[in-house]
Amino acid sequence: MSEATSVETMRRIIRQALASMEEHADELGRLDAAAGDGDHGITMVRGMKAAVAVLDANAPDAGALLSRGALAFSDAAGGASGALYGMLFATAGRQLGAGPYATADVAAAMRAGCDVVMRLGKAQPGDKTLLDALEPFLVALDAAADRPLPVAWRTALPAAQAGTAATAGMVASCGRSATLGERSLGHRDPGAVSLTYLLEAVDKVIGEAESDR
Ligand code: ADP
Ligand code: MG
Repeated sequence: MSEATSVETMRRIIRQALASMEEHADELGRLDAAAGDGDHGITMVRGMKAAVAVLDANAPDAGALLSRGALAFSDAAGGASGALYGMLFATAGRQLGAGPYATADVAAAMRAGCDVVMRLGKAQPGDKTLLDALEPFLVALDAAADRPLPVAWRTALPAAQAGTAATAGMVASCGRSATLGERSLGHRDPGAVSLTYLLEAVDKVIGEAESDR
């Protein structure tokens, strides 16, 4: 894949991610209202709009575009998810750089982002956060590392979806919703849900690019 193609693919991913957050904003807000402050949908849309707004500036490579979008997201979104998503994708983008973008490279970049989120956010899988979608996804992506990226990504998606579904049975011990403890039981974690939608948005774009060939 040429660098120009990769940059264009990343632009499409970021636009698709905004469309997905707009589509699901109400649902994310309702989930967050169950045990948090109800702002997760609004936060994600605000952040993604800011990421889309920096797309037009020249980017040397797809990784740079991702990290630039992540910083814009973080500044605009605010809240726990603004900071955490910002760190996740800024770190992943920096590590991705100019590629190559083989599955193993993308998996390693996402893993580096996940490590930063765990270190700074001090949550672990099982704490009912976006990590309950991200961690199983990354394990599955790693297991498919010898396959082309669009195939590996699609193969790994069900792990994120299952991890997200499982958060309904967890009691939050991190973030704002921790103070409401049991109230979060029975509801999926909004961050795990939004992360899964973002992963699905990536799949939609890279899966289509694959079938265009
Ligand atoms: P806020 O909690 O500031 O209102 P949001 O509502 O936008 O922010 O995002 C809440 C989501 O952020 C949670 O559903 C959870 O997935 C994620 N989150 C909160 N704290 C952490 C943490 N320490 N580590 C990982 N994810 C977290
Ligand atoms: Mg909130």
